[in-house]
Amino acid sequence: MLEKARELLKTYFGYPAFRTGQEQAIVSALNGKNTVCIMPTGGGKSIVYQIPALMSQGTTLVISPLISLMKDQVDTLRQLGISAAYINSSLSAAEAAETLEAAVYGEYKLLYVAPERLESSDFQDKLQYIDIPLVAVDEAHCISQWGHDFRPSYLQIARLVKALPGKPVVLALTATATPMVQEDICQSLGIDSANAVITGFERTNLAFSVIKGQDKLLFLKDYVKKNSKEAGIIYAATRKTVDQIHEWLQKENIEAARYHAGMNDTERNSEQERFLRDEATVMVATSAFGMGIDKSNIRYVIHFQMPKNMESYYQEAGRAGRDGLDSECVLLYSSQDVQIQRFLIDQSAEQIRMGQELEKLQSMVDYCHTEDCLQASILRYFGECDPEPCGRCGNCTDSRESVEVTKEAQMVLSCIIRMGQKFGKAITAGVLTGSRNKKILEFGFDRLTTYGIMKSQSAKAVTELIEFLISQNLIGVEHGAYPIIFVAPEGKDVLTGKAQVFRKEAVKIRQVANDDPLFEELRELRKSIADEERVPPFVIFSDTSLKDMCARLPVNE
Ligand code: ADP
Ligand code: MG
Ligand code: ZN
Repeated sequence: MLEKARELLKTYFGYPAFRTGQEQAIVSALNGKNTVCIMPTGGGKSIVYQIPALMSQGTTLVISPLISLMKDQVDTLRQLGISAAYINSSLSAAEAAETLEAAVYGEYKLLYVAPERLESSDFQDKLQYIDIPLVAVDEAHCISQWGHDFRPSYLQIARLVKALPGKPVVLALTATATPMVQEDICQSLGIDSANAVITGFERTNLAFSVIKGQDKLLFLKDYVKKNSKEAGIIYAATRKTVDQIHEWLQKENIEAARYHAGMNDTERNSEQERFLRDEATVMVATSAFGMGIDKSNIRYVIHFQMPKNMESYYQEAGRAGRDGLDSECVLLYSSQDVQIQRFLIDQSAEQIRMGQELEKLQSMVDYCHTEDCLQASILRYFGECDPEPCGRCGNCTDSRESVEVTKEAQMVLSCIIRMGQKFGKAITAGVLTGSRNKKILEFGFDRLTTYGIMKSQSAKAVTELIEFLISQNLIGVEHGAYPIIFVAPEGKDVLTGKAQVFRKEAVKIRQVANDDPLFEELRELRKSIADEERVPPFVIFSDTSLKDMCARLPVNE
């Protein structure tokens, strides 16, 4: 069986050997076991179901959420001499019916369908007549409400598979490895968790870095210019920011494409095509772009703003370097972006999931502030024990000296205690820097001994220090409807002088001189982006007695 699989790999796909995990997942599926295959983006999951499809009688059904991806895959398979087809909303009703008819006659080795199709009873009826040995569920995390891309129609899959006469094997594939999502996939699709094939998430060719305290636009400009020959993706949090960065890059004569949900299908497809064909070197996009995109030569992925959680980040950043060549993943951090994500979560998440979403966001913020190896931090988040430092990331290669910040930490910690451990980090930073904010005065926080003791620093710098102390587990966060910070047990040791705190020296902010022509341009752009992303001040306390008092307390500086 394995021999045959290897032969097919060579003859059809032209690859000399399987990658880690591929073989194991293929064998498991061919042995008739429902299997879940968890491999990073670019790990080669397609082949995991394509080879069993070639080795089985009948037609393998592939459920996949992305229309553009389906066409690519089917085209590639046809070029390799494998009969395949797809049914999705890009086909006319007549074309879809024709394809389905041909499938009933056993024309195809693989039939790709969009999950929405499964909801049609007509479609389900027709499937009864097709000999289906294997159902591959690609991007299987879409089945989980804990995943980052839940699709309600994925919930139909289990029922559909049960209704098929031939008792097909189910093979679920995803790049999302969080335990909760894994559990959901296994449970929904009837997969024994012992049949999970999980392979190394480490991407040894990716160098991660987090850039703090620098002008983002200036950084972006330098970076894109320096890498003007290389393909890259720039992710931004909102459509308008995408449009603005895109426009700006074009003015700089950089061939840029753009992609977000505010554009129509035709526009999006043509922009995507331009990027895939290397006609545009840079893609500026929201997170709407990229799922299933198979472009191997992406040399960098820059996040202009942090995404809402680590799952999204690793998936998006992981689109760099699929060809195995060295590539960079850069995250541009500013504390304001935390507010944007918090606001977006507040707008979208159902109340019961809110706490969990906020916890995930906290892990994302911790990643931005950690001084440990970034790659190792990611792997640890995804459940690997004791990952080795990568030696390549921004933190591993950071040669700056650590400086002792025990005193500053003590100031922050004692201020939190004096404020009753009932508030968020923005107002705490306000008290420490001596803000005259009306509410701070109303609470009488200006009478605290810690009021204004960090006056010489900006509220932003103090907020970042608080975030750093959170990432070091010295400050804890309670995620109610609104996050409240408190002194963690380890933090008490710092307060009592039993433990010290060290931090790498903050980077100096690069300034542009006023007479630099860039100055005006950057100012304008920065202003327009900031305008749109100014998050309405909001505060919700879980403690109702405080709620009235704080109802309109502005949390933004
Ligand atoms: P995923 O779905 O896991 O993100 P793909 O299936 O799109 O990844 O595969 C990514 C790339 O890796 C493709 O270009 C594919 O042809 C290539 N690939 C897959 N398996 C192998 C292998 N065994 N040897 C070499 N290249 C492979
Ligand atoms: Mg894939
Ligand atoms: Zn590292």
